[in-house]
Amino acid sequence: MATLFISDLHIDAARPAITEQFLSFLATEARQAEALYILGDLFESWVGDDAADSSQHDAIAGLKSLTAHGVPCFVMHGNRDFLLAQQFCRMSGAQILPDPLTVTLYGEPVLVMHGDALCTDDRAYQQLRATVRDADWQREFLALSVASRRAIAGAARVGSQVHTAAMEYAITDVNAGSVAAALRGAGTTTLLHGHTHRPGIHHFDLDGRPCTRIVLGDWYDQGSVLRWDGNGPQLAFLSR
Ligand code: MN
Repeated sequence: MATLFISDLHIDAARPAITEQFLSFLATEARQAEALYILGDLFESWVGDDAADSSQHDAIAGLKSLTAHGVPCFVMHGNRDFLLAQQFCRMSGAQILPDPLTVTLYGEPVLVMHGDALCTDDRAYQQLRATVRDADWQREFLALSVASRRAIAGAARVGSQVHTAAMEYAITDVNAGSVAAALRGAGTTTLLHGHTHRPGIHHFDLDGRPCTRIVLGDWYDQGSVLRWDGNGPQLAFLSR
């Protein structure tokens, strides 16, 4: 049995093929898994647990079916769906994970993150990230009507520049110094993250120790999964 990691599905009503592939993945490979970790940006947009649309409800129903089947599912916030909260957990049976988090996989401690916090070359984004992760900002945003929240998230109207810009930006790659700091802080030699949509496995030395950074891919044109079992990690694409 393997532990599965995915991220950056960006499920959205406008891209039904992604939802279909996700539901099929949940009903087949994920059913056999030891656990499923979704490392952020499951959804293209999440403006509150009270505002899910039909494609989001379909994905949640698929997760519920998986967790009811006995496969634990863990979800980390991404920069698109950082407002996933307790009602989502109740509906899906999934648990929200803190970012960053060290998970021990088959004896190996692995630092897992969404990855946006590592993109420190984009200072404007990091400022916005700090703003929208603030509890007061989130309370204020969630107090708006669902329609207002959707309009802001979709940048459909001229509203708060902060709100809009937080949802729409070009993704820069990770900063090597931030990667090193994260690994040093966690005391691990392996880092696993998504967000950048640049799937790959990178080997490098840090403080004289061999380190590995594994990056999950997005699901725009195909699926991407990391399968981790007793033989180690294997990054694969899921065609459709
Ligand atoms: Mn992201």
